Amino acid sequence: MILPYDDTYFMKKALQEAEIAFEKGEVPVGAVIVIQDRIIARAHNLTEQLNDVTAHAEMQAITAAANFLGGKYLKDCTLYVTLEPCQMCAGALYWSQISKIVYAAKDPERGCGVMGTTLHPKTVINRGVLEAEASELLKRFFIQKRNLN
Ligand SMILES: [Zn+2]
Repeated sequence: MILPYDDTYFMKKALQEAEIAFEKGEVPVGAVIVIQDRIIARAHNLTEQLNDVTAHAEMQAITAAANFLGGKYLKDCTLYVTLEPCQMCAGALYWSQISKIVYAAKDPERGCGVMGTTLHPKTVINRGVLEAEASELLKRFFIQKRNLN
């Protein structure tokens, strides 16, 4: 059987991580890092639980993937993340020299695009994979949060 290992398949895995964040009351952003069709890191936003503004899904995924590989560079790796990386994460991804970044929802206010943050020139970017699903989850989170306050 040939499994459909494509961008949508791995973005679904990142969305599962975002759902876990949602359940914990964290802004629902999830990420996975893949090398040769194998997931080597899964993470979700934990800024509330860890009381740490740097605990974005991407930051944790970068650390986990580097630990797994036993090297700091993420060459030949792809990051799947449900929201466009912010400038902190884009900066960390720059240093990791990651080969490819796939993100779902755009962040028109704090995304690296609007902030003008530079990614590594060798990093390929694919946008908008499962964008509707990721946006819907974020919207649901902020509506729920507003109603609680
Ligand atoms: Zn970030």
